[in-house]
Amino acid sequence: MSKNQALVICISGPSGVGKDTVITRLRRLNPDMWLSVSATSRKPREREIDQKDYFFLTEEEFQHRIEAGEILEYDRFCGAYYGTPRTAVEEKLAEGRDIIMDITVKGALAIKEALPEAVTIFLLPPDLDTLRMRLSARGTETEEAIEARLAKAQSEIDQATKFDHTVTNRDLDQCVAEIKEIIRQEKSRRIADVN
Ligand code: 5GP
Repeated sequence: MSKNQALVICISGPSGVGKDTVITRLRRLNPDMWLSVSATSRKPREREIDQKDYFFLTEEEFQHRIEAGEILEYDRFCGAYYGTPRTAVEEKLAEGRDIIMDITVKGALAIKEALPEAVTIFLLPPDLDTLRMRLSARGTETEEAIEARLAKAQSEIDQATKFDHTVTNRDLDQCVAEIKEIIRQEKSRRIADVN
């Protein structure tokens, strides 16, 4: 995949499961890990910054980028486009940097098809009530949007078996430790494969 066993790690799971927080913690442990900044056609939330949290595009701009081949994978989620810009991923892979992506189920499976050595990890909530509580506590979504995200959650969870690894986010420290161990094992497996 790349010169020095760099990993592409796809983190999926229902909205509210804690992907952002887990990814932030993993990057703190491994500051060299590069987070792929996605493009989306959804509206920015209050504290979100263009080009840092997402590349915020109109539907038309997003469609143009798909047609121009600039999007590695994309999905529709709750009425908006979300996708991974291609060039940045290719550049980081060429540099041998580990890449982490926050991505839908369909997106993670598309990445796995394009890059078979990618590692797909599905974060499970302890249960749907916890998910609802976390989504409400976050305060970023309207009641209607929370219902739409919860409706989507069950169908996403049903596909967890398609992932290389599933980890339950019951306790944040435990969840991060489990993913850290998965990354360590995947790294040593690649080093063993090369030797
Ligand atoms: P949110 O609106 O909460 O930021 O993200 C909604 C969903 O879009 C999340 O499940 C997140 O993982 C997913 N997502 C974010 N970026 C991408 C991307 O580049 N590609 C795909 N397929 N999904 C993404």
